Amino acid sequence: QAKSRGRSRVALFEAAMDEDLHHRRRIEGELRRAIDGDAVKVVYQPKVCARTQRIVGVEALARFVDADGRPVSPSVFVPIAEESGLIAGLGERVLRTACADAARWSIGVAVNLSPAQFRGDDIVDTVKSALESAGLDPARLTLEITETVLVNDPEGARRRLDALRAMGVKLALDDFGTGYSSLVYLQRFKLDSMKIAQGFLEGLAPDTDAMTVLSSMVALGHALGLTVVAEGVETVRQVELLKRAGADEFQGNVFAEPMSRAVLEAMLASGDGAVIPLRQAATRA
Ligand code: C2E
Ligand code: MG
Ligand code: MG
Ligand code: MG
Repeated sequence: QAKSRGRSRVALFEAAMDEDLHHRRRIEGELRRAIDGDAVKVVYQPKVCARTQRIVGVEALARFVDADGRPVSPSVFVPIAEESGLIAGLGERVLRTACADAARWSIGVAVNLSPAQFRGDDIVDTVKSALESAGLDPARLTLEITETVLVNDPEGARRRLDALRAMGVKLALDDFGTGYSSLVYLQRFKLDSMKIAQGFLEGLAPDTDAMTVLSSMVALGHALGLTVVAEGVETVRQVELLKRAGADEFQGNVFAEPMSRAVLEAMLASGDGAVIPLRQAATRA
């Protein structure tokens, strides 16, 4: 009996695997066809100055809608795109769109680069070409990379990052604190900013270990000359505590969710000079 139960569990497991694989294959196929079409879009999430709450830049985020019209999360389709070799095309689409859009604004734009995009030397030419065809000042483009990029191939990464820096592009370390070798890489690579991973904001309260860790991370970033950005900021309370910790910039739904170019442009053009009031946040928190 135990044996047959074991077998049926295996069957269930295999069925789940099949379904998962089927789902992944479907997404991959749709993504392959969609990369140059309407199913892939770019949205922008504002980043605000901690002091003025004025929009100082935006992060470009890819959005993908499947054949049934359902949005698929980037945490699902980005890994699929990486494993199937589609990330180069997807990433270039996002990069070109973001550069072309940002050329219409006065603020900067940040684009995520996945480890797979960073593996080849092509990335330097791709960035250069995207900047040139958009006519965007390189200083207004930030590339967000994760530690994985630096760990996998430190020599190649250094060469490519140096070439990008020489071009005038800014570099940010994304999801800081989620890797294991952060400190080594932070001091070895020349970066402009670090984004503290959202996890550090969970359960944040005064006089707690969480608060001590957060303040130390901000101090570390500043000691290294980096702009410290907090991401995934969801509540007014987090905003207050992040200010206390000394963070420079905030990004999160408490200020604004990712939005279309049109909505962002309306916001930038609004009378309040693109200052996002916390009133918006207060109703949510
Ligand atoms: P990320 O680069 O760390 O981007 C921040 C993520 O936090 C975004 O998720 C954003 O929508 C989300 N977020 C912002 N504010 C809040 C908040 O207040 N609460 C919560 N819970 N979440 C918030 P998203 O858009 O789902 O993207 C997830 C990840 O997928 C990104 O993390 C990035 O690693 C990757 N990704 C997205 N677009 C691209 C892309 O064009 N290229 C590459 N290579 N990766 C991308
Ligand atoms: Mg990012
Ligand atoms: Mg992040
Ligand atoms: Mg990330």
